[in-house]
Parts: sequence; C-alpha cells; structure tokens
Amino acid sequence: MRQSKLFTKARREAPADEVSKNAQLLVRAGYVHKEMAGVYSYLPLGRRVLENIERIVREEMDAIGGQEIRMAILHPSEPWKQTGAWDSVDVVFRIASRTEKEYTVGQSEEEIVTPIAREYLASYKDLPVAIYQIGQKYRDELRAKSGIMRGREFTMKDMYSFHETQEDFDRFYAVVKEAYLKIYACLGLVAKATEASGGAFTTKLSYEFMVLTDAGEDDILYCNHCSYCVNAEISAQKEDDACTRCTKGSLARAKASEVGNIFDLGTKYAKDFSFTYKDKGGKDQYPIMGCFGIGISRLMGVMAETFSDEKGLVWPESAAPFAVHLVALGRDGGDDISKASDALYEELRRAGVDVLYDDRPLSAGEKFAESDLLGIPKRIVVGKEAVATDVFEVVERKTGTVAKVPRKNLIVS
Ligand SMILES: [Zn+2]
Repeated sequence: MRQSKLFTKARREAPADEVSKNAQLLVRAGYVHKEMAGVYSYLPLGRRVLENIERIVREEMDAIGGQEIRMAILHPSEPWKQTGAWDSVDVVFRIASRTEKEYTVGQSEEEIVTPIAREYLASYKDLPVAIYQIGQKYRDELRAKSGIMRGREFTMKDMYSFHETQEDFDRFYAVVKEAYLKIYACLGLVAKATEASGGAFTTKLSYEFMVLTDAGEDDILYCNHCSYCVNAEISAQKEDDACTRCTKGSLARAKASEVGNIFDLGTKYAKDFSFTYKDKGGKDQYPIMGCFGIGISRLMGVMAETFSDEKGLVWPESAAPFAVHLVALGRDGGDDISKASDALYEELRRAGVDVLYDDRPLSAGEKFAESDLLGIPKRIVVGKEAVATDVFEVVERKTGTVAKVPRKNLIVS
C-alpha cells in the first residue's frame, strides 16, 4: 500500500489524555482511535495487527478441533437472569429498551452457548465438542485507563467445550494449554500457565496464562526448571524458594500480564439450563463444561507495551501490519529515486510481499522517525546510492542492524 493513500497520519506528540503506553503509541502511530475511555476503533494498521493475531489464534483453535461460530452480540436478559449473572456480576451491561424488555451484550457467552449446545448435544456420542468465536465483548468497567489492555469493549476468542467426564475435560485442558503456549510463542511472547482455584461461584478451577513483561500488572513466581508458575500475590512462596513441584529448580519473580484464561465450569451451566445428554446406559447426565478465553485486543496492547522502545513500536513479523516498509527518499515523484522505488514496490508486490510504501514528499528524517514509530519489522531504503549501485539499505527495526542487500536478493531476503 502507498503511504500517500493511507488515510491515517502519525502524530508528533502522544495524546494528552492517554496514560498507558500502549494507547499513547497506538494512537500516535494511527493504529487506533479513542472513542471514550476503554473503547477504541481500529484503523487500517491496527485492524491488520488485530487480524494477524486472530488468524494465529484461529489456526490453533481449528487445529485442536474447535468449530468456529458467531454468536449474537445483543442478548435477551432472561438467560442471564436464569444463571444469576444478571444480579450478581457487576460488569454486565443492563440495557433498557422502549419495548420495556431488557437486554445485555456479552461479557462472556455461557448464557448463549449453553442453550445452543443443548439443542444439538443429546447423546454421549456427540461429546466431546468445542465451539468458539472471535468477537466483541463488553464490560461495564467503572474505570478504564489501560488503553486497549482493559476495555469496556474488546475483542476476545472464547471457546466452550462439553465433556462426559472430568478426566476428559482435564485431557482437553492439556491440549488447549499447549495450543495457547504455541500462540504466545508465535507472537514472540514468553508465557506461563498458573493454576489457581477460581474465585467466582461459577468456577471450580481456573488457569491463567501470563506473559512475562515489564509492563505487567501482576507479579508471578515461576520455576526456572519446570513449568510451575503461581501468582505471587496469593502464594506463600517467595523468590529463590525451591520449587515444590520438581524440587530441582528455584522460583524466579517477574512482572507479567494475563493474556488468557481457562475456567473449569463443572456442571453449573448445564444445570442452570437443564442440559443433559444420554450416557452409554441411556441415563441422563449433565456434561462438564469448560471456557477458554484469549483477549485478542488485550494481547495487542500487551505486545505494544512489550515490543516498543523510545522510538516507537517494534512488531514481531507474525503480527506486524506489513512485512516491509519501503521508504523512498525521492521528493517529487518524477526523479530517478522515485522511479526506482516505484519499480521496486511493484516487484515486491508481485512477489507477494506485504509492503507499505512511503512515497510521500517528506524529508528523510521525518520518514525514518515515522517508520520507527510504526514499527514494521524491516525497512528498505531507496536513496541516491541505491539507484546508482542497485544495492539497498535494509534496516531491521528490532535491532537497528543495517545490511546492504543487492536488488536481486531483496525479494528473498
Ligand atoms: Zn520446578
């Protein structure tokens, strides 16, 4: 895409009303637009990042047998009253209508997905099943000042699974855990899974996925030898204690952000909605249910906080809005530099490279500063020297490493 056609422009200054680093950077670079505290619109660059994260999550959920659906956003209040959440969960939006009916919008979807599952899962032969969606969620937060990391509206992947037995839920939990760790690794994040008893009345057990980041709101203790990890706040253990699980390692302390969770819901929702299936002996049984969440927009916020420096954003290739930022140092569109960069842009596009082409008549300093702010992993510079020698400067955003690459190697480099 030609940057002269991109309708967003980077700002020189961080917005005055944003306190969180992720929102400061993302608003400045034109990735998102703030509608109100905790609610953002995603502009072309931001939408690309969000969809890259969604694609990675979707691939892993499909790979473990998840079936994607799209549930209604506007919900009747009745199922929420049936489970007790209407009265007990403070972040549930309660929307009055002129029809005198009340509605809500989902902050989780057990109230919607359980009645759907009840329609189709009648026999043990239908189990286990996992269905998921990627969509908008809403929470009536009192305060929202963490940018896109904790919003009143956010994008989430939520999967719900139904099982005959606790053992089968445990088996599936282990499968999802591996898939989650793969997703975070693909996004360049180091994640740990903590296990804790759930606080909510709906939950038997919950598992949190924490990524190590200095921007994190939580402190965790994790074993340097095995996968053991706990939230430091609730643990009697402390840094350097011997690991109680493997007894070989010791505990390290780190800042972390929660980017996913798994809830063992037991039979709570099945009972609320009288959802039973026939077991092998023909007897009615309640299925065991699990809920598996990943905050997609939150993950993007955590990444903006984690992968950034004093110059701006530093996206990993897997999530970046473009693979290459082609920066031409021509000034009027008709000079040799502009002609050479136009030709290279077309060549890269034909080779299937996702490229943002800065073809605007700005100074090199302005272009490089904006390129650093946008955080595209690789920058190819077309200046006088490149035109004369057919050797191009390729700058890696993460390290600042500069390589001189002959044109014929650019497409594969
Ligand atoms: Zn250990």
